[in-house]
Amino acid sequence: MTATKRRYSASDVARAQFNKAVRYLNLDSDMVEYLVTPKRELIVHFPVVMDDGRIRMFTGYRVHHSTVKGPTKGGIRYHPDVTLDEVRALAMWMTWKCALVNIPYGGAKGGVQVDPKQLTRNELRHLTRRYATEISILISPEGDVPAPDVGTNPEVMAWIMDTYSMHRGYSTPAVVTGKPISIGGSQGRIEATGTGVMFTALEAMRHLRLDPNNTRVAVQGFGNVGSVAALRLWEQGCKIVAISDVNGGIYAARGLNVRDVLRHQKEAGTVTSYNEADAIDNTELLTCDCDVLVPAALEGVIDELVAPGVKARLIAEGANGPCTIEGEDILLDKGATFIPDILCNAGGVTVSYFEWVQDLQGFFWTENEIVDRLRRIMLENFHAVWETALEKRIDMRTAAYTLAIGRVVEAINVRGIYP
Ligand code: GLU
Repeated sequence: MTATKRRYSASDVARAQFNKAVRYLNLDSDMVEYLVTPKRELIVHFPVVMDDGRIRMFTGYRVHHSTVKGPTKGGIRYHPDVTLDEVRALAMWMTWKCALVNIPYGGAKGGVQVDPKQLTRNELRHLTRRYATEISILISPEGDVPAPDVGTNPEVMAWIMDTYSMHRGYSTPAVVTGKPISIGGSQGRIEATGTGVMFTALEAMRHLRLDPNNTRVAVQGFGNVGSVAALRLWEQGCKIVAISDVNGGIYAARGLNVRDVLRHQKEAGTVTSYNEADAIDNTELLTCDCDVLVPAALEGVIDELVAPGVKARLIAEGANGPCTIEGEDILLDKGATFIPDILCNAGGVTVSYFEWVQDLQGFFWTENEIVDRLRRIMLENFHAVWETALEKRIDMRTAAYTLAIGRVVEAINVRGIYP
């Protein structure tokens, strides 16, 4: 999906989702305006010396949507389609996500317009160190704590931590989460988002009376979120019938051996050449015969053109913003249930929070402690959203938004508006 192909603005989707929820809250229009307005937006243009000695200019962003509930939290994305509009939407989603799962953060997001696959490791390190320096006026353990997102990983986080620490003159692990374990990363952080998707999806299946052993799941995206979600759901007995990555997908009605597909992807660099399945494209994946669909790639993939063909009863949003407003309306009319992104993929930022707490205390927890706490938080919040949806007769996303927005409004009212 390239920028030119996109027919919608991620900010418009985020705003429309917000507007829908606001109808169920008793807020005056001034408060509504305050809630949707990003606090600060930084645009940086910076040079990187490439391996051939030439200088290339890059553009990056860091947006703080809200600082009301605490330091801002949110990932850094490296992708050729990154725009200010997208980062702005992703930052706003982080505010609601953190408020929904009750972790003491506001929302932020960052991004660099770059295809990391086109850069050498050396170039990527230079780009990261320079970008980290450019946004260092915003990031800190107390103020704004980045993490991985699409196109970034623990190694990139290590470079950011090191760059920030070099400027300070002492090691500051809590400035960024999703780091390697050896420098203050948390057990379970890499798998946290996918594991959280599994917890919420299984719980939703229980409520919808879908027996995992008879449930067919399709997963779009086989990166850090999709691959772990697929593996965890498969380990729980679900039949994973389709998987895709940026190059295309594979489908097997009898179910895929996810561990085998993972092994293949590691060797071949893609799932598409996996032999024991039929080749499909990414749209075919979204509309394939399945009970549960896990979009775990980019925004806006389920729009009004794709939604009529979607057969899944349950959509577990591993990605941020995978569904447009029109796409969601069509699916809601068809009776589908959503586990909205701000709930479904909140496992990542939840374990990021655990990592930050461990770094600040210099005291580390076991993997069991992490997974137990994660499970508790994901299930508690799933139930809160499920009950709210039933009680108010609203869809799951709107229910999640009303809970999250309500908490941010409460914090604004308790703090008061400065001066
Ligand atoms: N990028 C992830 C998200 O969208 C994680 C953010 C974080 O851990 O701060 O939720």
